[in-house]
Amino acid sequence: MSGLSRRRFLQLSGATAAMATSLGFSLDSLEASTPQLRIANAKETTSICCFCSGGCGIICHTVNGELVNVEGDPDNPVNRGSNCSKGAATFQTAKNDERVTKVLYRAPGSAEWEEKSWDWAFERIGELTAKARDASIVHRNDDGVIVNRTEAIASLGSSILNNEDLYLVSKLMRGLGVVNIEHQARI
Ligand code: SF4
Repeated sequence: MSGLSRRRFLQLSGATAAMATSLGFSLDSLEASTPQLRIANAKETTSICCFCSGGCGIICHTVNGELVNVEGDPDNPVNRGSNCSKGAATFQTAKNDERVTKVLYRAPGSAEWEEKSWDWAFERIGELTAKARDASIVHRNDDGVIVNRTEAIASLGSSILNNEDLYLVSKLMRGLGVVNIEHQARI
């Protein structure tokens, strides 16, 4: 719909319907055979795609507080209604029976997944991080220069992280001596 704004399109659609009626055409049968759109009478709330820091605009349609549809916001100057494949799937972040919402742990050698608490996961991650760091830290390089680094841990950032999140991730990793710091958007 290049060169034709969403509002202009809706205006033209209305004008076309009015013209058809004035020429004696009845739109009743067309209306009767048209399935009800799931966004009919839905409330529109504009938001920002949650997947990356691109900040594309989306419209969330809700009916009685229930999310029924998500699509690109044509009035947002960043994306003008377009979303990439991730953004186009935003609806599934809220409505998806397959989405894993609990911590699942598979012990080494086990074929079974166990459900664990978030507190357990944080403790476990901290414990293993400290163990890996302590076992691999190099304080001086071959020339005797202090480096305090570990190459046993790597950090992979996500493009959904904002400046403040990344500052904290970077600070934590540098503090641990991690030098392998990469970002998903660069890969
Ligand atoms: S994931 Fe895609 S749609 Fe979402 S903000 Fe990034 S580029 Fe835009």
